[in-house]
Order: sequence, then structure tokens, then C-alpha cells
Amino acid sequence: MKRKNRIYILYLNKKILFILTLLLLIIIGIIFTKGSRALNIFSYRDGQVIVIDPGHGGIDGGAGNVKDVLEKDINLDVGIKLKKQLLVEGFNVVMTREVDQSLEHLSSLNASRYRRDLDARKNIIDNNEPVVFISIHVNSSKKSTARGAKIYHYPNSTEGKRLADSIARSIDANLYEKFLKEESLRTEVLSEDYYILREPSYTGVLVEIGFITNPEEKRLLMDEDYKERLAFAIKKGILEYLD
Ligand SMILES: [Zn+2]
Repeated sequence: MKRKNRIYILYLNKKILFILTLLLLIIIGIIFTKGSRALNIFSYRDGQVIVIDPGHGGIDGGAGNVKDVLEKDINLDVGIKLKKQLLVEGFNVVMTREVDQSLEHLSSLNASRYRRDLDARKNIIDNNEPVVFISIHVNSSKKSTARGAKIYHYPNSTEGKRLADSIARSIDANLYEKFLKEESLRTEVLSEDYYILREPSYTGVLVEIGFITNPEEKRLLMDEDYKERLAFAIKKGILEYLD
């Protein structure tokens, strides 16, 4: 009886040891194969802030059609997806809006509703001292064939241009080539004297993520997988700019 017990204990110990070894190997495996990804959750990038500015909102629908789909809703959706991806990377993320609202009530300017809305966005950007800010918009054109992302930086802003180029490269590689398998579609980088690029004291770009007036691109901009991939591509572009 005594002997039998001993054998049982020995067997149990071996089994536990085997399971523990296996668990340890799995954990080591995850850390090594996923590398920086697993460890990124624990790296907080020294409190680096990124401001995401989903264009329009509330009374201001932006491009599109209220019976179909409005730009403001696509902007917010992509903005929230981008926020989630940046949080995983360890950034502090601030959004100019997280719900369907315009922001003029946050401005003390004595100006038009439109200008007060933009002033409020500018103040949120400046108050949070971000490493970069990203304004998200959807484009429209009289030509239904117009398509593809366009990224705007402030004229003569070297950093703005560098950020725009980096995000453009990432959208081309991660979204157009790998996801859509379209080698010919390319993101355009342009400079423009927009209020939201001129007024803030920090580096930022305005990303026109696609054309709502192009039937195929509109369909894609309503597709969850596409928007998730788009947010991923923007994030990758930001990371490459900062590294
Ligand atoms: Zn817009």
C-alpha cells in the first residue's frame, strides 16, 4: 500500500513538471514569436499623446447623403478604430469628438459656426501637446471615377510632409497592395493652407481616406474589415514617422 502511494506521487510530480515545462515553453514561444507586439502592451511611450480629429459631426454631416451614408459617421468610425490601435501601442489618445456632435459650443470665438467648430478642434490639439495629430475626412468629387486617399500637410511644413509621406507609403503597402491587391492605386500627398493644418502649434495631417462619390470606394468605406485595415495602415505610418 505504502509503495503504491509513492509511485502515484512520483507519477503525479512528473506530470505536473511536464505541464509546467510545457506552459513555460508556450510563454517563451509567444514572447519570442510576437516579440515587440507582446511587450508593446507594457511600453507606455513616455506618455506620448496623439490627437485624432474625426471631421464634421452633429449638424454638419460633411460629404454624402443623409439617406445613404454621411462622411461624419465614417470619419468617427475610422477615428475610433485608429484610437483603439494606438492605445495598444501605448500612446495616450485624445479625440476631438467621440460622439456625433459638432464642436462650436466649445469655442469662445465670435465667428461663424464653422469657424468656431474648427477653433475648438485646434484648441483640443494645442492643449494636449501631441506628437502628431490626424484629422480624418472623406472626399467627394463630381467625377465618380475619382478614388484613393489624399493626405494634406501644411505648405512648407517639413515634419508635416514627412508624416504625410509616411502614412501614404503605409496605406499603399498595407491597404492597396496587400489588402485590395491594387498595385496601381496610390495615395497622393498634397499641401494645402487649411485652418486645421495652419493654426495648431503641432505637427499634423489631414487624411482624406477615400471618395464617397465613387461607388466601389463608398462600399469599402462602409465595410468594417476595410476600415480596420485602413486604421491599421494609418497607425503603421505614424509609427514609422516617429521611429
Ligand atoms: Zn470633410
